[in-house]
Amino acid sequence: MRFCPNCGHAVNMTIPKSDNRERAVCPQCDFIAYDNPRLITGTIPLYKGKLLLCKRSIEPRVGYWTLPAGFMENQETTSEGALRETLEESGSNAICKQAFSMISIPHINQIHLFYLAELEEDDFHATEESSEVALFDLDNIPWNELAFSSIRKTLNFFLEDHKDNSYSFHEDTILSNTTSE
Ligand code: ZN
Repeated sequence: MRFCPNCGHAVNMTIPKSDNRERAVCPQCDFIAYDNPRLITGTIPLYKGKLLLCKRSIEPRVGYWTLPAGFMENQETTSEGALRETLEESGSNAICKQAFSMISIPHINQIHLFYLAELEEDDFHATEESSEVALFDLDNIPWNELAFSSIRKTLNFFLEDHKDNSYSFHEDTILSNTTSE
């Protein structure tokens, strides 16, 4: 940010009083811009034991498979956001079962939160954001063509829990030296 969104004056990068981090501060109207991490919320959509994945048609990672997920919007809950993204990316209506994984990615200022979800029916299609949407058997997940590390981690947790048919909540972190973020 170079200019104050409040009054238009050029901002300075400085540590505000009783703060400990540099922020964009407006010397004219004292506006302080707080830049905080963003929450990405999505689903692990299941239908009769199969997993729904979306092939990305937008950057980043065009052509790679992903779980439907995206940035939360204001005025919605995390599960509402997850279901909205599922509908937008796969054309399918789902029901959230439980929060399943939360992955912090500090170097890109993101948190990824995934819900276990059930598709209401066998109804999905390619969308503006997904060139292809498909159900996969759990032993046929395209591991080499997954879009993001958070998807890989989440699916690994899912398969482990699936073996025991007992699903818990998983928290993890992806650091900047991990490949393919
Ligand atoms: Zn200002």
